[in-house]
Amino acid sequence: MIKFIIQRISFSTRKYIKKRISELGVDIPNNYIDILKEVQKKEEQKGIHIIFSYLYSQSNHPNANAFLGKSMLLNPEYAVSLILYYNDNCNNDKFRKAFEQTIGHELTHKERYQEKYKQLTPFRLPLKKMKFTAWVNEAHADFGGTQKMASSSRQILLEVMEYKKAQHPDSKDDCSHPSWEKRINYVKKFDFTNELIEQIAKDVGYKNQKFIDKVKAYAYYAEIILSPAPAND
Ligand SMILES: [Zn+2]
Repeated sequence: MIKFIIQRISFSTRKYIKKRISELGVDIPNNYIDILKEVQKKEEQKGIHIIFSYLYSQSNHPNANAFLGKSMLLNPEYAVSLILYYNDNCNNDKFRKAFEQTIGHELTHKERYQEKYKQLTPFRLPLKKMKFTAWVNEAHADFGGTQKMASSSRQILLEVMEYKKAQHPDSKDDCSHPSWEKRINYVKKFDFTNELIEQIAKDVGYKNQKFIDKVKAYAYYAEIILSPAPAND
């Protein structure tokens, strides 16, 4: 068992943070490193190891990725958001919940590699099949994220998704992700069950029932039932 220590924040990450925060016209808090260490400590207590990495992504959108066991890579832009919104003075509850969901979502993605699911790895499949499995994966990670981090609360997940949708108002369907609007609808109207997998096949226009059934019956996809029950309008 590897015992992690709280990772120090690299020079490049610090430099990025200072530059971005001054670009945003905000005074950088003197304790910005402490804020990040506090986040690392809190997550470490839950067994999640947070690494801020400049090499992982220099995008000016917050990016997170689970890469090894329960380790999470966050880019410096994520560190900037954490400094601005996570600290106690700011009390930005939505951001905190979104951060927790992001971690849960990425950890759920990570799980599939540990199971038979890797046989269905999207990148080896024809386009429509790939899109179908990728979308099922995304929906699964959304449901799994809230199962892990928010006691399976549908309401918290929807709050977080609306918050993220507002940050990406132009979000559209693509090969790997349904639009935020679709993802929100999946959570509003479904649990993660075979019914949702059928709906995703319909939305993607994927018709190979044999493969759809294989994905449904796949050992990896246990149902995820959220509370309260989905809206049935
Ligand atoms: Zn995802």
